[in-house]
Amino acid sequence: MKNDFNESIKIVSDWITTYRKDIEKYSVLSDVQFGDILKKLPEIAEEQAEPFQNIWEDFNSIIMPGITHWQHPKFFGYFPSNSSPPSILAEMIVASLGVQGMSWITSPSATELEIRVMEWLRNLLGFSNQFSGVIQDSASSSTLIAMIVAREKITDFISNKKGLSNEKLVAYCSSEAHSSLDKAAKIIGIGSDNLRKISVNENQEMNIEELIHTIEEDLKKGMKPFFLNGTFGTTGSNAIDPLNKISQISKKYGLWFHVDAAYAGSALILPELRHLANGINEADSIVVNPHKWLFTTFDCSAFFIRNKDALINTFSILPEYLKTNDTKEVINYRDWGMGLGRRFRSLKLWFVIRWYGKQGLQNLIRSHIDMGKKFESFVKNDDRFEVVAQRHFNHVCFRLKGSNEENTKLLNKINKSGKMFLTHTKLNGKIVLRIVLAQTSLKEEHVIESWNEILDML
Ligand code: PLP
Repeated sequence: MKNDFNESIKIVSDWITTYRKDIEKYSVLSDVQFGDILKKLPEIAEEQAEPFQNIWEDFNSIIMPGITHWQHPKFFGYFPSNSSPPSILAEMIVASLGVQGMSWITSPSATELEIRVMEWLRNLLGFSNQFSGVIQDSASSSTLIAMIVAREKITDFISNKKGLSNEKLVAYCSSEAHSSLDKAAKIIGIGSDNLRKISVNENQEMNIEELIHTIEEDLKKGMKPFFLNGTFGTTGSNAIDPLNKISQISKKYGLWFHVDAAYAGSALILPELRHLANGINEADSIVVNPHKWLFTTFDCSAFFIRNKDALINTFSILPEYLKTNDTKEVINYRDWGMGLGRRFRSLKLWFVIRWYGKQGLQNLIRSHIDMGKKFESFVKNDDRFEVVAQRHFNHVCFRLKGSNEENTKLLNKINKSGKMFLTHTKLNGKIVLRIVLAQTSLKEEHVIESWNEILDML
C-alpha cells in the first residue's frame, strides 16, 4: 500500500482553508473529558502501513473534537498564540525543507535570514542596534538563557568550567513576574528562595523602594545580587514595571537587567507607545514573543542581547564532529542557546513581516488596542461591573462587583458556553476575569457580540 502525497496534500490544504473560514462554527473550548481521546487511540501502533484516508478520518473524528481553537477570534484566554496566513505558508515550507539549522553550514539561508529578520524586528520595535537577536523556542527559554549568561558573567565564566556553589547568588523580579522566572531560578540552581519577589503597588508595578532595600539587605548578608527582571506587560494584568528606574538600579549594583516583554513587546511596533517602555534600551537582554501577538505561529521567541560574546562564551562547545572550516565571523546559532538542533523559525517571521508590511502590522496592533478600549468602555458603563487594573493595551481586567464565587461562576458559565474563552487571575485577593483582544481575525463586531453574550449569561 502506498499513499499518494500529492492527493493527500490537496486534502490537507483544502481542509486548512475550510477550517480557517469556518472556525467560528466551533466551540472555542473542547468539551471532552480527560481520557476520551486516549481511549479512542490504539494502545499499540499499527504493524502495517495505513491508507491516508484512514489517518484522515481518525484525525477528523478523534483528534478534532479534542482541539481548543486557539485561532478562534473569541479565544480571549491566557495570551494568544496567534497565527496568520503567511505564517502557515512558511511553516508548510519549513516542514517540507526539514532544515535543521544548528550551524551556518547546515543551511546558510536559515542562519543569514535569522540574522537579517532579527535586525528588522529590532528596528520595528525601536530597540537599539547594540542588541543582537536570536530566535528561541519560548520566552521561558529566553529568560533562562539570560539568567545563565548573567550567572556566567558575574562569575567570570568560571562556573561554566568549574561549577559553582550557587548559595549566594540572588535574582530579583516582582511578585507579578511570570512563573518562567521561578523556573529559571530552579533550573540554574539558585533556588526559588533566592529569587526575591518584590511587592507591587496598586497598579501591579514593582515597588522600587523595596527593591533597593532588598538588594541592600542582601549585600549586608554577603549575598551576590546578579540578575534583575523588569516586566513590560505582566501576565496577570499587563502592568509595566518602571524600567527606567530598574535600569538605573541594575547599573548601580552591577546586575544583569533583563526585560520580559514576552507579550506586550509587540506593542512597541507603535512609536506612540514607546514611552511606556522607557529604559528598555538600557537592558542587557530582552524577550518578545512574535508567537504571542505578532501573528507568527508558535514557536517564535525573539531574544535580544547586548553582549553577544557573553552569550557565545556561555554556550559554545565545539566537539570534533561539529568542526567546520568556517571563517571567524560566521554565526553558528547552536552557540546562542540551549539546544543543538534548531528549527528554521526565521522563515515565518520573514513571511509575516513582508506579507503585512510594517504599516499592516501597526494597523493590526492599533486595532487590537482600540478594541481593548472599546471593551473597557462597555465595562465602565455598566454599574454591575468594574475594571480592576490600568489598561495599557488590549488586555482588560474586569469583574462583577460581587464575591469571588460569583465571578468564578460567571467565568465557568462563559467558558462552558463555547462561545468564547476567558481566563482569570487574582489581584489584591479578588478573582478577576482577563480578556485579551488579540486574535488575528478579531473584528469589532466580535467584541460587541462577546460583551452582549456575557451580559446574557448574568
Ligand atoms: N513572560 C510573560 C510575561 C508571559 O505572559 C509568558 C506566557 O504567557 C511567558 C513569559 C512565557 O512564555 P512562553 O510560553 O513563550 O515560555
